[in-house]
Amino acid sequence: MIKKNLIHFTKLELEEELIKLGEKPFRAKQIWNWIYARGAKSFEEMTNISKETRATLDQNFSLTRPEISKDLISFDGTRKWLTRFSDGREVETVFIPEENRGTLCISSQVGCTLSCKFCHTGTQTLVRNLEFHEIVGQVLVAKDLIEDWKSPIRKLTNIVYMGMGEPFFNYENVAKSVKILNDAEGLGFSSRRITISTSGLVPEILRCADELKTNLAISLHATNDILRTDIMAINKRYPLKDLLLACKIYNQKNSYEKITFEYVMLKGKNDHEEHAQELIALIKKFNLNVKINLIPFNPWNGCEYDRTADTQIHKFQKILKDANLISPIRKTRGEDVLAACGQLKSDSKRERKTK
Ligand code: SAH
Ligand code: SF4
Repeated sequence: MIKKNLIHFTKLELEEELIKLGEKPFRAKQIWNWIYARGAKSFEEMTNISKETRATLDQNFSLTRPEISKDLISFDGTRKWLTRFSDGREVETVFIPEENRGTLCISSQVGCTLSCKFCHTGTQTLVRNLEFHEIVGQVLVAKDLIEDWKSPIRKLTNIVYMGMGEPFFNYENVAKSVKILNDAEGLGFSSRRITISTSGLVPEILRCADELKTNLAISLHATNDILRTDIMAINKRYPLKDLLLACKIYNQKNSYEKITFEYVMLKGKNDHEEHAQELIALIKKFNLNVKINLIPFNPWNGCEYDRTADTQIHKFQKILKDANLISPIRKTRGEDVLAACGQLKSDSKRERKTK
């Protein structure tokens, strides 16, 4: 008999499965807690459940996690894994430890439908969406690898959907995964510790404002439609006016947190002083509550862009700061293992291409 994998179920489905087996609903709660709050990988570990019940569970179910096919550690402590699913498909998952927090960057798709010109992931065509449990599976495996289930201080505190793929092209699975991450009887990440990054899908931004209430990051990268359409084709479908209006609504519905505008600095392309001014004007026009993350471009083979010089990034930043906008320059992490933003592309694919 093929055992059903309990990790592939939502909380409700898990309860239904156990009831089918003749168990009471509280048993589902107990097991949920073992899997998602304590990181149990076998029924054997669930010591508050009788031996007989554990044996029955073991006969019927498994708790199999995704596999890790590569584990790289950068000199700066950033870790990158290749997470492999049962069909052999792989995505990248990156852990970024900092002094007071640890952030996990997770993928939502294998590849990406879009091909933003500056983004390495965009060179890999979409293979498929991830299931919700494959998104959550990345978090479970990460907590195993960094040994975060029993540590008194949580090492993994924040989740960002900034890995491979466009989360809002896989909205249903992303939404289900957020719900599981949120669950106070399980992983317990509050919505404010979760950030979804999007290239700008307006209808899903609006849905997210009502349904998920996570932090929102927008890959903005340009300050007018001509420039944005040139580097991000999605701008043809959702031009700046529509995108910024959606951001305005997001702000109104989730007023406690600023939206993050991600702005990758491309030399001679979007990094002029006038662009900074244009950005300020847009933020004022739409009366947005945002902060701007200035991101040094991470170069990759075959990309037409270069990184803006630090002096120019600082000039750009000063203009924003003088307009009272919070605009940190993102530290580049994990470059030596190609784990920096926009460099995510599964090695197996890259290796195949090289051959
Ligand atoms: N598809 C979503 C989620 C992926 S996030 C989105 O586009 O928002 C990936 C983040 O890394 C985005 O902010 C993206 O703009 C940024 N990025 C992509 N390529 C990059 C590069 N070469 N250097 C720096 N940042 C990059
Ligand atoms: Fe896809 Fe985001 Fe990369 Fe664009 S920036 S290609 S949407 S992953």
